[in-house]
Amino acid sequence: MALTILSEQLAARIAAGEVIEWPASVVKELIENSLDAGARRIHLEISQGGAKSISVTDDGCGIPAEDIALAFERFATSKIDDSSDLSGIATLGFRGEALPSIASVSRVEAVSRTQDSESGARLVIDNGQQIALEPAPAPPGTTMRVTSLFNKLPARRKFMGSMRQELARIHRLVNAFALAHPSVAFSLVADGKQRLSSPGDGQGRAAAAAVYGSRVAGSMLEVADAGGAFGVSGLVGEPSAARGARRYITLAVNGRCVENRRLAFAVEQAYHGFLPERRFPIAILSIRAPLDDVDVNVHPAKLEVRLLRENLVFGEIQRAVRSTLSGFSPVRSLHVPSGSSRGGRTTDAPSLQGRQFAASAAWPESQTTGAEEDGQSTAQGGPDDTPAPLEPVPSYRSTLPILRVIGQAHETYILAEGPDGLYLIDQHAAHERVLFEEIKQRFESRAAESQPLLEPESIDLDPSQAEAAELHAEELERAGFLIEPFGGTSLLLRAVPQLLSSSSPQGPGATLAAILDEVAEGRKNDSWQDRLLYTMACHGSIRAGRTLNIEESRELVRQLEQAQQPQTCPHGRPVMVHLNAGTLEYQFGRR
Ligand code: ADP
Ligand code: MG
Repeated sequence: MALTILSEQLAARIAAGEVIEWPASVVKELIENSLDAGARRIHLEISQGGAKSISVTDDGCGIPAEDIALAFERFATSKIDDSSDLSGIATLGFRGEALPSIASVSRVEAVSRTQDSESGARLVIDNGQQIALEPAPAPPGTTMRVTSLFNKLPARRKFMGSMRQELARIHRLVNAFALAHPSVAFSLVADGKQRLSSPGDGQGRAAAAAVYGSRVAGSMLEVADAGGAFGVSGLVGEPSAARGARRYITLAVNGRCVENRRLAFAVEQAYHGFLPERRFPIAILSIRAPLDDVDVNVHPAKLEVRLLRENLVFGEIQRAVRSTLSGFSPVRSLHVPSGSSRGGRTTDAPSLQGRQFAASAAWPESQTTGAEEDGQSTAQGGPDDTPAPLEPVPSYRSTLPILRVIGQAHETYILAEGPDGLYLIDQHAAHERVLFEEIKQRFESRAAESQPLLEPESIDLDPSQAEAAELHAEELERAGFLIEPFGGTSLLLRAVPQLLSSSSPQGPGATLAAILDEVAEGRKNDSWQDRLLYTMACHGSIRAGRTLNIEESRELVRQLEQAQQPQTCPHGRPVMVHLNAGTLEYQFGRR
């Protein structure tokens, strides 16, 4: 084929491919434009996952009639000019690419009116061709309606997922925007059904309630900006509200929603010890960074940003989340709907769902708020559900109150009474927690107590056990295992940690082999050393099914009262269930 310069239209379509990948990409660009225009309300209507139509209405500054056609030219932007410094961009858009890209692969109808003009203008562009430009009545603000997306690009259309998948992508995206911009009221209607309605009252918790339901939002813990070069603030979920997937971490850098695996990982790591395996936190975090620390111009769809000092930000996120979590309540309270008459629905009292767009021609009345649960809308927060309480937010203590042991149940749980109700304590998990903290402390201060074996035991390890023992000889010794090579994969075990000396029915060698196996299986995010320590704690602790006398129970609870993190065992499972006085009164109909 001869070398030719592509027609402008074709070139535009190719460029659009970089920016507009899915219907959700259109939604993202339009929302960003609305936010840049200072909108306080953004209303979206989607039909058939965006394949049929996407419309975004805002109450922002509007586009002057004389500029509306220009806005669809390539590289037309009102946000930067040739004198701008690309390293200090505060707006979400800046390349002037989105509107022309969208218009080159769909039919766009733009209707806009600036705040102070009498009437508006209407522009229609169909796959790059201007069809109409005329004055039109309109409320102040802008509506962009995109139809026939990718109709002229069958290949693109084939890549689109099912309507449900595309809608889910859009829903997640709008959720993220609503979470990152609590002072903007977002509403999403898809195929006639209200999916999201955030109040836009500036309260992060209210936005979280719109997305995750008021129960989860009410229990989220606040992360406060510590005021350094990078501020991290927002809300993080209680460990008990953890999810089975990673996608519940929402991060925004200077108001821009970003996907950053590493920073999300910093959040996950901060939950270390608080969550069981394969459970992931819910978190909504805003990162404040100096503008010239952030390079927003690295991804065609601006989904990623480059942070010059990412390591610092990583550490700051971890620290902020961790310190919030360590002030978290040691016990899982069973929530009682407060201020509700039993069984009935509460009125809309402090209900967040109550705050919706004022009814007007441009703002359709919204009915209910769908709360996202594992990617699906559920009835939570919906009309048939008793609204979960937002207030009072549980108070968070870091240590346990003094408890009075009442007895043992099922040879597994210790029953105790405290100033605020009853506690059921899992004896194994509690002992694991106590031992883990003790072992870790001794390990760190190199004071592990070792018990020499009367007769050294020679053990045969399988190759991976032997490899681990050799690789981590130093840690094993620090933990109290005295081991000597004995040729091949055989070892001579001379001493074991004190705490394991009496609790290994199979004998010390077998215990070491079992520990090496379990350490290899442990959570990969944890260091080998941590895995060793919590595996040892598990082996050394009282198993469920053992009768404890009252003295032993008391001693265990006394030790737990002094633990740093009495709420979870080292694997992240809960140590106790708390039935607070309110719950009991509620259950017995005393309230
Ligand atoms: P960019 O956002 O990078 O400037 P776009 O192609 O997304 O480029 O938009 C082009 C221009 O159109 C913007 O700079 C802005 O002036 C105008 N514009 C687009 N959408 C809106 C809107 N919803 N409200 C007001 N102005 C808008
Ligand atoms: Mg833009």
